[in-house]
Amino acid sequence: MSEEIEGAAEEFERSANRLRSELRALAAAVAPGVEPAVEERIQERRTTRGAMGSQFTVTMTPVGASCTAAAASDAMAAAGWCSFETGEGPGGPSLKARRDGFEVGLFSRPSGDPVIWGKAPVVWFHDRWIRPPRAAGPQTSAPGYRLCRLCDGWGTCGECEGLGFVDGSRCVECGLAMDCSSCGGSGRERLGS
Ligand SMILES: [Zn+2]
Ligand SMILES: [Zn+2]
Repeated sequence: MSEEIEGAAEEFERSANRLRSELRALAAAVAPGVEPAVEERIQERRTTRGAMGSQFTVTMTPVGASCTAAAASDAMAAAGWCSFETGEGPGGPSLKARRDGFEVGLFSRPSGDPVIWGKAPVVWFHDRWIRPPRAAGPQTSAPGYRLCRLCDGWGTCGECEGLGFVDGSRCVECGLAMDCSSCGGSGRERLGS
């Protein structure tokens, strides 16, 4: 077990707030006077070594606004964004820029509505995998059952502890199945089995 990385929650909050306000400013610059529809998401990130983190993403859609990639590029450059990349989106040219680990961009839907999106850097909460809590314990066992003798109630694979990987490679014990091969994850087995 490892403790949560100190300050990770605060860092996540800080970067989410920064991304929100950066994106609001861009939306106001490229589509003045249009209140955008806002969608926020938190995506879980995992490395094969078991680090766990979260990434905050936002999209803002100023529905009905008309905005060209060139205008958006000017607004982003004025706000200090750099490393511009252009591409082809579903409704015309798209644009992407970066700064300090943050990423923002703009593309148009086929309907012509511009979509402004942003991604904050991934914030790591745990630098290694933490085995999920026991599936069963002595006090949760039901009549006719006992704790699984292979996993002692954990329910997860004993080799990878439920991550599916050991040292970055697929777990040979469970082959990414992640559950205890004897009890299938319940942590219990029938008496007499
Ligand atoms: Zn395993
Ligand atoms: Zn088991």
